[in-house]
Amino acid sequence: MFKKILIANRGEIALRVIRACRELGISTVAVYSEADRYSLAVKYADEAVCIGPPPSKESYLNIPRILAAAEVTGADAIHPGYGFLAENTNFAEICATSGITFIGPSPAAINAMGDKALAKETMRKAGVPVVPGSDGVISEVKLAKKIAEDIGYPVIIKATAGGGGRGMRIVREAGDLETAFRTASAEAESAFGNPAVYIEKYLEEPRHVEIQVMGDQFGTVLHFGERDCSVQRRHQKLVEESPSPAVTTKIREAMGNAAIKGSKSVKYVGAGTIEFLLDKNKNFYFMEMNTRIQVEHPVTEEVLGVDLVKTQIEVAAGKRLDKAKPIPEGHAIECRINVEDPNHDFRPSPGKITAFHFPGGHGVRVDTHAYDGYEIPPYYDSLIAKLIVHSSTREEAVEKMYHALDEFVIEGVKTTIPFHRKLMKNDRFRSGKFDTKFIETFDFKD
Ligand code: ADP
Repeated sequence: MFKKILIANRGEIALRVIRACRELGISTVAVYSEADRYSLAVKYADEAVCIGPPPSKESYLNIPRILAAAEVTGADAIHPGYGFLAENTNFAEICATSGITFIGPSPAAINAMGDKALAKETMRKAGVPVVPGSDGVISEVKLAKKIAEDIGYPVIIKATAGGGGRGMRIVREAGDLETAFRTASAEAESAFGNPAVYIEKYLEEPRHVEIQVMGDQFGTVLHFGERDCSVQRRHQKLVEESPSPAVTTKIREAMGNAAIKGSKSVKYVGAGTIEFLLDKNKNFYFMEMNTRIQVEHPVTEEVLGVDLVKTQIEVAAGKRLDKAKPIPEGHAIECRINVEDPNHDFRPSPGKITAFHFPGGHGVRVDTHAYDGYEIPPYYDSLIAKLIVHSSTREEAVEKMYHALDEFVIEGVKTTIPFHRKLMKNDRFRSGKFDTKFIETFDFKD
């Protein structure tokens, strides 16, 4: 087992990893930017090293500084969390050449799945159904037009380096294709430094259903069931749940097997997620793979009673996965509490938290890095807490979530709590019959 793990991240996920390490008897090193000097990760970790000024590029994305911190403190492994360097092949490679274990898949697997167009190709070759579209990236508008005509409108243009819902454009008719192609490409260039885009059929009213996978170093890959992330705003997830109200045992099995097949094709080790779109006729298509732990991993942990972060660390250290799959129990829901104002187009609302009280009780879990008096820095993403509930049925879980949200007090900043409270009372949400377009039609304003 590792002796000391450096956490190359911040916020709630840094705390999540520190806690897992403590339980495993591993020492921890937090790295932090000047804006995070007073963070709980700095307080909770055994050691903490400042790696630079607030902008991510100069701190959490600064590979030489992070590696220097690992060397100075004698860390033998690095946990990248999610975001920042979690899916950076170059970083994983540099860790390996420096003799530090990167807690995640091999650089080759990250590379094969990190490029979205290439990932689709890899999955198609492994026999997994993919959303119909171009074979790889396309550089010419003319070719894009031809493909769009072949697969039929509407189509979606997506950045191959994309993430967080950026670099995507939906095109409903041929006349709009050229502009959409150019803007998607320009947006991808400025957001990801890579202008390459690909094109696929835009599925109307699909559900977003993803499979959690875990692989060890001996070729075993297990799937830990699905999460439904269809409650989205501008292609960004707001609520996740497991099991999916739309997935039957048969679909789960088929999706799970496809996810395992795809993961094995890249010799996947560690925690990963295969994202699918499920259409109205219950056909599913591979969309992308995230080669890291995800924000929404707790819903899977709650229904299965497993600790995915501990397991992820153990397999990175060479432990074999237990092939006896855990049995899912009940229903779990996660609400992402962001410091955003739902009444004003979800605009960010950083600032000082003047009062903070979070809910508790049976089946209620809060993963947060916030505290009373915490000054939320404006430089990073707006997730401030994840509220997760677990109950025996979906109906009970929704009810529990509503009351837990009611108990949650965060003052001094605007949050998405009022949005979630309304959602929990919404008939369509309660019915479980909704798709990724649902939030567009949901009136949540006060
Ligand atoms: P990102 O990596 O930026 O999050 P994804 O490829 O995961 O991008 O897509 C994010 C969301 O965009 C999906 O969950 C889905 O709601 C929507 N989406 C992506 N591709 C399609 C498609 N072909 N048809 C319909 N919706 C899509």
